Amino acid sequence: MILWNNVAEPNWWKYISSNVLYYLCSNFPRESAGFLVRDLNGEVCFFPIPVFSSSDHFYWDVEKFVPLLYFFHKEKYEIMATVHSHIGDKAPAQMSTADHLLHEWASFHVLVSISHSRSTEYFVKFYSSQEFIFNNKL
Ligand SMILES: [Zn+2]
Repeated sequence: MILWNNVAEPNWWKYISSNVLYYLCSNFPRESAGFLVRDLNGEVCFFPIPVFSSSDHFYWDVEKFVPLLYFFHKEKYEIMATVHSHIGDKAPAQMSTADHLLHEWASFHVLVSISHSRSTEYFVKFYSSQEFIFNNKL
């Protein structure tokens, strides 16, 4: 079982936030997603993840997604976080059950809830995941 806990804003967010928010807001009213990767110089870069999406779901576009992973491997980029958006006036700022799969890519996640069609109303939450393995012998 994966648990996502709210954590403080990381120091790298201020350097990358305008790129990330511009991309996520430009996809309104569809959800979108991305990777935050660290290059060999320690710089954090944002890469949008190609997805098929609606206002409440997204799925990887595998044909475009896999080459992106090869590129990261070739360049020795480290995936340090995933990011995705939730859409709508009541956009929940909580990780959904489907979002738990994002733990497979990185234990850190940035969730941006975009509530307004003008895309000027959003808020950002930062999560860190932990995996719990239940002991059935209890
Ligand atoms: Zn989600």
